[in-house]
Amino acid sequence: MRKIKNKKLLGSLVVAGVLTALVYLAWPTASGSVAQTTSQQSSKTLTTESSSLNKQQYPVDTASSLWVVVNKGRQLPSIYAPADLVVPTVSLRLSASSSEMRVRADTARAIESMFASAKQEAVNLMLASGYRSYAAQESVYSGYVKTYGQAQADTFSARPGHSEHQTGLAADIEPLNRHCELDICFEATPEGQWLAVNAYQYGFIIRYQKAMQNMTGYQYEPWHIRFVGQALAAQLHTNNQTLEQFFNLPAITDYPAQSFELKI
Ligand SMILES: [Zn+2]
Repeated sequence: MRKIKNKKLLGSLVVAGVLTALVYLAWPTASGSVAQTTSQQSSKTLTTESSSLNKQQYPVDTASSLWVVVNKGRQLPSIYAPADLVVPTVSLRLSASSSEMRVRADTARAIESMFASAKQEAVNLMLASGYRSYAAQESVYSGYVKTYGQAQADTFSARPGHSEHQTGLAADIEPLNRHCELDICFEATPEGQWLAVNAYQYGFIIRYQKAMQNMTGYQYEPWHIRFVGQALAAQLHTNNQTLEQFFNLPAITDYPAQSFELKI
């Protein structure tokens, strides 16, 4: 063995030795704390995963952020439109020239990857709706208000500025055969079931979950997915949390007198 002449190296070895000793001393405590029941162990694992995700990694108040939170109390500026909208190379409900068939670039790649995996399992998905501008949402919403009245329309359609579709990170998915198109019965179709089980692996969450209407303010929408990236999607899927719960934001079920305006 070579004699150690380098003082820095010698110092490093001393530090490493001290650290090893500390780990050894701490070991009985650590092993004692994990010697618990299986359920306690899994909740401990969840806590560890939760703390490993930096909640400040992407801002929730910026319209173009991956983690922007849009809901009935948080409004996108009317002039906001994402800069990187593209048409994903997948089955589309409308012509590729329709502005609603676009989503943000990362979302498009994730949709392509997800649809390709589904296809390998003989599950054929189609993009029903992606980006919707403020003006387009205004037109959709006012149409519903005319037909159903405002109170009813507010349970399934967002007011302009309050739609996740304006972020370019949201998409409505349907079966290629259009069975149960944008209908709650989509959840029972092979396509709906595949999406519910697998979407998180591609960075998507089912944004308006069943039995969470009292937190999201919207009825169950098994077809509406929101891109948040794989790490956060996995976290929310495992913990069965809404975006608001994860970011410690209040649950909003009704439009407040004054909404919080998100930044561009
Ligand atoms: Zn939608």
